[in-house]
Amino acid sequence: MTTPQDIIRHDVLAMTSYPVPDATGYIKLDAMENPFSLPPTLAAHLGEHLAGVALNRYPAPRPEALIEKIKRTMGVPAGCDVLLGNGSDEIISMLSIACAKPGAKVLAPVPGFIMYQMSAKLANLEFVGVPLNSDFTLDTEAMLAAIAEHQPAVVYLAYPNNPTGTLFNDADMERIIAAATKSLVVIDEAYQPFAQRSWLPRADAFDNVVVMRTVSKLGLAGIRLGYLVGKPAWLNELDKVRPPYNTNVLTQAAADFLLDHVDVLDSQAAKLRDERTKLADAVAQLPGAEVFPSAGNFLLVRVPDASILFETLLTSRVLVKNVSKMHPLLANCVRLTVGSPDENAQLLAALKLVLH
Ligand SMILES: *Cc1c(COP(=O)(O)O)cnc(C)c1O
Repeated sequence: MTTPQDIIRHDVLAMTSYPVPDATGYIKLDAMENPFSLPPTLAAHLGEHLAGVALNRYPAPRPEALIEKIKRTMGVPAGCDVLLGNGSDEIISMLSIACAKPGAKVLAPVPGFIMYQMSAKLANLEFVGVPLNSDFTLDTEAMLAAIAEHQPAVVYLAYPNNPTGTLFNDADMERIIAAATKSLVVIDEAYQPFAQRSWLPRADAFDNVVVMRTVSKLGLAGIRLGYLVGKPAWLNELDKVRPPYNTNVLTQAAADFLLDHVDVLDSQAAKLRDERTKLADAVAQLPGAEVFPSAGNFLLVRVPDASILFETLLTSRVLVKNVSKMHPLLANCVRLTVGSPDENAQLLAALKLVLH
């Protein structure tokens, strides 16, 4: 009888599943979720709206009304189209699959979003990570040299970057875009609600740029909806590798309904930007804590001992992300998601147990 070890790829056998710790009973500040729920009346109306959805039918493969609403609401330039994904994670997979010619490479600054690398490797693409400067700004010269050397098919630039929170310099990014004439540059704007700066209005100004967004960090992580904005010449090809019914009817209906109430989510994001400033100031006061500037709904903080801090927070029932083993540049760094005022107060109290 055969075993999985006989059949499954060696590199897959050697992998571990993407770790998602059980957060039951914890203050969950590890995954950049929006801590606020929908106002009860809005949630009730959403429920009525979803009750009318035909669950017996397959979803529309390209839901035109929803796509038009995304274009209008988010200000997608006229020359651009929109491709939907089951989260932007799926869009990253589509990019990998579509670009996986023999020998093709994917390049991104590191430390960065882990899915660029994971997805590339699963599609047998080589991943080239270019270290950031120690202050987490782009090492533009190193990026340009690596692009010239490796001629990557895809270059990812997260704007702002996760887990560092850095909003890369626009002029540096323009130099990279200009040099990457043989690449597709994917600007990942997962945290746009907290950065407020965007390349989306210029998505039609370049022939080698697409802009990726998601509703996850805006407050809808549970519905799994990401979208890619770019010229039809790119999106039409990527659409061919999209699983036909990738966004489900409930996701489509919930997004369609909530985009009419996006002001609610926008004001939650504004509140979180405010909380980010307060939390950053408070953490910076703690002895031994170095807070890096963040344009996301999280803070990267360097502490004297990230393991001890992580464990102490756990005993206080606060779950954060210890990123210190992800990359040498992140030594003794933890990533704190900005929560509600109450959650942030409890986080701060727990931090003071270690940093005093
Ligand atoms: C969270 C995150 C995403 C993933 O978003 P989903 O739409 O939830 O799959 C993409 N890019 C970055 C940089 C992220 O941090």
